[in-house]
Amino acid sequence: MIYKIGDVVEGRIIDFTHEGNGVLKTDDFIIFVKEALIGDKVKVKIDKVKKNYGVATLVEILEESKDRIDEPIDLTESRGGIPLIDYKYSEQLKWKTNKVKMDLKRIGGLKDVKVKDMIGMKTPFRYRNHTQIPVGQVKGKPIIGFYEKGSRYIIDMEGSILQSKIGDRIISIIRKWMKEYNIPIYNRRNRKGILRHIGIRTNYKDEAMVILVTGSNHLPYKSELIQSLREENIISIYQNINKSRSSMTYGKKYKKLDGEDTLLDYIEDYKFKISPNSFFQVNRRQAEILYNKAKEYLDLNKEDIVYDLYSGIGTISLCIANQVKKVYGIEVVEEATEDAEINAKLNNVKNVEFITGKAEEIFPEIIEKNRRANKIILDPPRKGVEKEVLEAITELEPDTVVYVSCNSSTMARDVKDLVDKRYKVVEVQPVDMFPHTAHVESIILMTYCG
Ligand code: SAH
Repeated sequence: MIYKIGDVVEGRIIDFTHEGNGVLKTDDFIIFVKEALIGDKVKVKIDKVKKNYGVATLVEILEESKDRIDEPIDLTESRGGIPLIDYKYSEQLKWKTNKVKMDLKRIGGLKDVKVKDMIGMKTPFRYRNHTQIPVGQVKGKPIIGFYEKGSRYIIDMEGSILQSKIGDRIISIIRKWMKEYNIPIYNRRNRKGILRHIGIRTNYKDEAMVILVTGSNHLPYKSELIQSLREENIISIYQNINKSRSSMTYGKKYKKLDGEDTLLDYIEDYKFKISPNSFFQVNRRQAEILYNKAKEYLDLNKEDIVYDLYSGIGTISLCIANQVKKVYGIEVVEEATEDAEINAKLNNVKNVEFITGKAEEIFPEIIEKNRRANKIILDPPRKGVEKEVLEAITELEPDTVVYVSCNSSTMARDVKDLVDKRYKVVEVQPVDMFPHTAHVESIILMTYCG
């Protein structure tokens, strides 16, 4: 059966896409539907037809999934960024664990892998320590909130269920200031106006850094805003200037307006100074669980030499350094390596070396030069690792490879390659870093079979 735009189709949602949209399957055709959950029987209207799939709008839920939560959470924010919010958390965890299993089976060809149940959060709310909130305007009224998924429409919100409560209060202070002083919203088309985004970062003791993203250097009524923000536990205020037309939140230039240069956070006993532009694990509590698993899998001892590929600001390298002889971190973003070096000093760690460059270029070169190591941990971005990295791993033949992944499909592809080259998968542990979204994080232990 071939569908056309405008057709109305009925059926049951059987899966989620990686964006958290519902997947409806009819007559061997797959249709993606926003705001529909697994188990829902739905009526949808087709908006787009491609060769292998279609996209549709939800018209009506004919029969609700038994896995919808009993009392929908009252939200003032868009459900777009948290598509699974109405799906029972226990079912979210089951779906994510199963996704890892299925990807390893379908993409990796690995049937009997031990995939443990995903480690979830006891309270899966307010876990994000960094939010970037767009500012817009509807009928002359300032709107602060998230975009509806895939659109330019911003939903006005009082706060977000994923960020710390101080973040909600910051939004209300800024909204009040905007109204009082008539602060114009930035318009990307004509490049007029002031405020574009609000960045909020928080740390372990709920101190906040506020980043006001503006379209030019001009920021009127600054001192009035700083004064009202000071009523909260805000230790640092920055202005970020973003003149570009792109949808990237932050521009290159940061100007400190008040307070400290950095926010201090911890992962276990290790301190990290976080600049406004530094990457830091968004869910600190779950990151600790993940890193502990990494340590357990690496089974470290004082003779070990470890490569930490895709090392970012050095969080994994620093957490394992005192148990081993030497760690090498490889990371492409220069500022991240600089942060990693600062963090090493801050924690008095001396046996790590951070190298800036692409893993697929630097790592094979190093192996070529015969710099040996017996263990590897890698934490690549969504697209997984390049084949040069996999080749260099098999060239090096470390006894242990620990792969941290935020995308189980590319992980399954890469793991298959290593299995073909005499590695065996010992165990996989998914850890929920992003409750209410369809993002799946997992860690996998592989050993060399000889
Ligand atoms: N392990 C770190 C960061 C993981 S995120 C942590 O837990 O904090 C993935 C990292 O890979 C990012 O820092 C990104 O900048 C880096 N990266 C992306 N492509 C890369 C490449 N080709 N070579 C090296 N690093 C890369």
